[in-house]
Amino acid sequence: MTTTRTTTAPVTVFGPDFPFAFDDWLKHPQGLATLPASAHGTEVAIVGAGMAGLVAAYELMKLGLKPVVFEASRMGGRLRSQPFEGGQGVVAELGGMRFPASSTAFYHYVHLLGLQTQPFPNPLTPAAGSTVIDLEGQTHYARSLADLPPLFSEVAQAWAQALDELGFGDLQQALRERDVPRLKALWDRLVPLWDDRTIYDFIAQSEAFSKLSFRHREVFGQVGFGTGGWDSDFPNTMLEILRVVLTGCDEDQHLITGGVQQVPLGLWAHAPEHTTHWPPGTSLASLHGGATRAGVTAIARAPGGQIAITDTWGAVREYAAVLVTCQTWLLTTQIAVDESLFSQKMWMALDRTRYMQSSKTFVMVDRPFWKDVVAATGRDTMSMTLTDRLTRGTYLFDNGPDKPAVICLSYAWMSDALKMLPHPPHKRVQLALDALKKIYPTVDIAGHIVGDPITISWEADPYFLGAFKGALPGHYRYNQRMYGHFMQDALPAAERGIFLAGDDVSFTPAWVEGAVQTSLNAVWGIVHQLGGQCPADNPGPGELFAAIGPVVLPD
Ligand SMILES: Cc1cc2nc3c(=O)[nH]c(=O)nc-3n(C[C@H](O)[C@H](O)[C@H](O)COP(=O)(O)OP(=O)(O)OC[C@H]3O[C@@H](n4cnc5c(N)ncnc54)[C@H](O)[C@@H]3O)c2cc1C
Repeated sequence: MTTTRTTTAPVTVFGPDFPFAFDDWLKHPQGLATLPASAHGTEVAIVGAGMAGLVAAYELMKLGLKPVVFEASRMGGRLRSQPFEGGQGVVAELGGMRFPASSTAFYHYVHLLGLQTQPFPNPLTPAAGSTVIDLEGQTHYARSLADLPPLFSEVAQAWAQALDELGFGDLQQALRERDVPRLKALWDRLVPLWDDRTIYDFIAQSEAFSKLSFRHREVFGQVGFGTGGWDSDFPNTMLEILRVVLTGCDEDQHLITGGVQQVPLGLWAHAPEHTTHWPPGTSLASLHGGATRAGVTAIARAPGGQIAITDTWGAVREYAAVLVTCQTWLLTTQIAVDESLFSQKMWMALDRTRYMQSSKTFVMVDRPFWKDVVAATGRDTMSMTLTDRLTRGTYLFDNGPDKPAVICLSYAWMSDALKMLPHPPHKRVQLALDALKKIYPTVDIAGHIVGDPITISWEADPYFLGAFKGALPGHYRYNQRMYGHFMQDALPAAERGIFLAGDDVSFTPAWVEGAVQTSLNAVWGIVHQLGGQCPADNPGPGELFAAIGPVVLPD
């Protein structure tokens, strides 16, 4: 791989486990691959119309295959922008909502579709305007970190120093420069050291934090870095958090104006400029007569060697290849999957995958009243709010002075999400308003609410069972097995032809970039199986996997 980048090159989601330049692969003028004419029009089943499924379907269609997309619930999957009734396009982002600039493969599609973006109103950023941090009953108002008491800067510095103890600076420099040998050498050394250890262990044992009080650790857990508290990730493997910071996923985040669901839905409707085999104007929507097929209920090996898919209505059809993009727990709960399609080692990985819980509760309000300046204090009426109370994170979305605005009253994970799980929408809103009343005793939020609230608990939805993967210590081997499964030449024939992609197959769960990158791996795998090839000047992930793929740890 070349190392032409400079020290100021941007941080991107370039590995670190598999440092393949997916963004360059997508941009290359010669395209991703070509298939023999005999393969053109071959049907490939895609299970799930989320981002991973639709990226794969779109790219396979461009190469001349015929993707057949199955969806059990809503198109877009965890990119779900639910409109408020009567809100004239005002939406609640129920899944992914802030997209780091480092997600270059994801933004390839955002730009292709001509969508607009805006800085996301994260804590202490100019886009938020002001931020309130309320911990242990003490409320601080700030526009930047410098406005907060010294404890907060000490926590930020300790986090930076703790990362330095791991050699973070060198690692990130290698990633910026796309210096693959150096990045691999540095990262692969850390994998066995940190796979077994949690982020809490990392913080508690670091020299930087051990010089400070327990309170510093606690504040790190509540306020964290970038986007909010990280205590709900404390039991996760440190490797997972390290990837987030290394690849810049927690910085420079943007929202998609009008809602991120436009990205998967846009790919469904978009007619690519150049396609092989299909007439101009062909889109996924036109190939499907406008709608996806129903949910999948069974996947089995057909007698002739193809893979048979059964849908909700009992229709059975056979395919040369199948790509499964739903959460892997659904392979044992929603879909009857022939056990022989995967090795027992792979089943172990699929079933041990661990999902995190997440709940969000949104209301639409008449206007962005929080921007009204209180004469007595000179402060905003209300601010983006991080707290140790029930709500945890409250985010404010201004759609312009003449439009109704949106408040995400509460965005919570894990235990805090479980506190909301059994409650109906109005009770969730009431609980959130009660908590916020303790921070803003004089602000009448309820008086501004219009329309019905929108809320979600991803773990309560049978088509998801959780928000996203959060790998535990000791899970690296499972990740590595699932991630590398698209390389099928060495698999027994009985296990070939079924591919996996999506958030939980990636090494960067909870970030859509991982769903896109694993989808592109699967595109390579399917093309390879059907006799296709990448241009010599534009090798694909499979050509480089043996040389720079994720390090394999012994079982
Ligand atoms: C609360 C939350 C917050 C997030 N925040 C961010 C963020 O800020 N930034 C970011 O980059 N990413 C974020 N993410 C992650 C991002 O949303 C995901 O990585 C991405 O949307 C996953 O896409 P996917 O295609 O892998 O899976 P999915 O979107 O889950 O798609 C899989 C599809 O399979 C369907 N399906 C299930 N069962 C069947 C069946 N039997 N037959 C057919 N179809 C089936 C599902 O309905 C679904 O549509 C967040 C996710 C959540 C839940």
